[in-house]
Amino acid sequence: MNAIGEKIKYLPSSEYPLSADVYFIEGDKYCYIYDVGNNDDSLNQINQIKKEKIIVLSHYHQDHIGNIENIDYHSLYVGKKTYETIGKGTIVDEQFTVNDGVKIEIIPCVSPHTEGSLIINVDNEYTLIADLYFTRSSFDREKMLMMINSLKDIETKYFVISHQENDKVFPKEKLITELLDYLNQ
Ligand SMILES: [Zn+2]
Repeated sequence: MNAIGEKIKYLPSSEYPLSADVYFIEGDKYCYIYDVGNNDDSLNQINQIKKEKIIVLSHYHQDHIGNIENIDYHSLYVGKKTYETIGKGTIVDEQFTVNDGVKIEIIPCVSPHTEGSLIINVDNEYTLIADLYFTRSSFDREKMLMMINSLKDIETKYFVISHQENDKVFPKEKLITELLDYLNQ
C-alpha cells in the first residue's frame, strides 16, 4: 500500500483487469474506503480490515465499484446514478461531514465524466476526486466549467486523482489552472 500524507493509504490502480485506486482513511471508529476497485488485490486488502467500514463510491463505473458485492460494510454512500446501477447504498445529494478523529466531508460534485459523482475532502487537506475530470475529446463544456467552479470552492490544499500513479497529487491551484487551460484550448 502507498500513502498520501499521514492519514490516507491507497492501493494503486491496475490495467488488467481495469481497477481504480482504492483509498483507505483510518478514523477512530471506522475505516473509510473511497472506491472498492475491481480486482482481487483490492478485495483482499479491503476484507483484511478489522474495523467496520464506511464505503463511498465515486461513481458507477465498473473499475470503481466491481468488488462491492463481496464486501461487508457498516454504511455505503453513493450518488444517484451509482444507486441506479448497484441498487443499494444511501444516496448523497447534499454534502455532509463526519468527524471521527479525522474530518471527512462527502461532497456530491458535477462532472463531465459521469453524472452523480462523489468526492471526499480529508481534513481540508487532501480532496480525493477519482476520475471526476477524465473526458473524451468531446465533452460537456458547461459541466466542466461547473465542476471547476465547485472545485474552486472546496477548502483543500491538494486534489488527488485516480489511475495516474506518477501524477496523482496536485496542489489545488495547479489543477484548477490546468483544467481551465484544457477547457479554453
Ligand atoms: Zn469512470
